[in-house]
Amino acid sequence: MRPGSGTGSETQVAKKTVRDVDVRGRRVLVRVDFNVPLDQGRVADDTRIRAALPTIRYLVERGARVILVSHLGRPKGKVEDRYRLDPVARRLGELLGREVVKTDDCVGPEVEAAVARLRDGDVLLLENVRFHPEEEKNDEGFARKLASLADIYVNDAFGAAHRAHASTVGVAEFLPAVAGFLMEKELAMLGRLLADPEPPFVAVLGGAKISDKIGVIENLLGRVQALLVGGGMANTFLRARGLALGKSLVEVDKVDLARELLARAQERGVELLLPEDAVAAPAEAPATDRREVPVTEVPEEWMILDIGPATADRFAVAVKTARTVFWNGPMGVFEMAGFERGTEAVARAVADSGALSVVGGGDTVAAVERAGVADRITHLSTGGGASLEFLEGRDLPGVAVLQEG
Ligand code: ADP
Ligand code: MG
Repeated sequence: MRPGSGTGSETQVAKKTVRDVDVRGRRVLVRVDFNVPLDQGRVADDTRIRAALPTIRYLVERGARVILVSHLGRPKGKVEDRYRLDPVARRLGELLGREVVKTDDCVGPEVEAAVARLRDGDVLLLENVRFHPEEEKNDEGFARKLASLADIYVNDAFGAAHRAHASTVGVAEFLPAVAGFLMEKELAMLGRLLADPEPPFVAVLGGAKISDKIGVIENLLGRVQALLVGGGMANTFLRARGLALGKSLVEVDKVDLARELLARAQERGVELLLPEDAVAAPAEAPATDRREVPVTEVPEEWMILDIGPATADRFAVAVKTARTVFWNGPMGVFEMAGFERGTEAVARAVADSGALSVVGGGDTVAAVERAGVADRITHLSTGGGASLEFLEGRDLPGVAVLQEG
């Protein structure tokens, strides 16, 4: 896939995948993103494990010796029992319907012995790679040790591809490096938003802060026909238009930037929609007073916690006319009862649009699932930070090192 003008380039070049290499009888080191929530020694949400199954099954069926490596949480280079991957190995074994051997480290003699015992089609899960400080430093010696376990490297951890670590970048120097199916799908879906989006292309952005998403807004302004802004982020734009907004979350140091982005949208002929009404309350709390007000009339001691019904309707209409939709960031404090309606309305509109729809961001994907419309979205991205960096047009280091197809 070739980039459109001014895109991050390297990341958009088609990459070789597991389909392009002969894996039978070979030791294949697969970087997966098994950074899942745990609850009392069990996997609380196995979405990320399921997302890696197509690649793992493919390798097993073709008689590869599969060695999986992942991080979990932030153990900061030390062994922490609560971040061990044993519950993940159990859950993966259940999902695959076969034994998954798990080692207590990711390098060293125990691991080498376990790898040596692997037969074709076996699956081994290494211990949390972030127990070693060398991982996040992308230490060459450590990367070499990891690489020495295998003959081929597969990166299927799109969610970690924006990090230049030993298991995402370093190992690729010592082994033939290709993409797994999840990585391939993420690059294809997100790539379509940048390279060749069918118009009208409508982006919906929300979440707490504008500062997390400046790069995305800037890069999308050159590609979309309309940009709908909700969530806490919209407040900073509304302030740039001179509104008071009571105690609402406003990033005061980003107001000038917001004004500049509004001007740029206008120059480019991009329709930038901001909330006209809001659900406001005296505090970010569930059992509180709540009122629907025009954004020009937020009481002084109150704050905006959701978009209002008129805004939700207008956003829904804009989304339904789209042929391509990207959505990141909830429209309000959706995790709290009373402030979830705007986000639900957008979720339904995206699902009903019939557009090619891509949703990114941990909270936004959770909101789509809660609204019960996940199966009507074209692609739910598994990479939070990675998908945003991709849409900023940046090269992801974990993608750049993969062989070109
Ligand atoms: P994602 O994880 O999908 O990328 P973000 O993490 O950027 O989304 O944003 C989600 C957070 O934004 C939620 O915790 C939500 O409560 C918060 N949020 C949304 N609207 C507001 C608002 N009006 N005021 C304060 N916080 C908000
Ligand atoms: Mg979030």
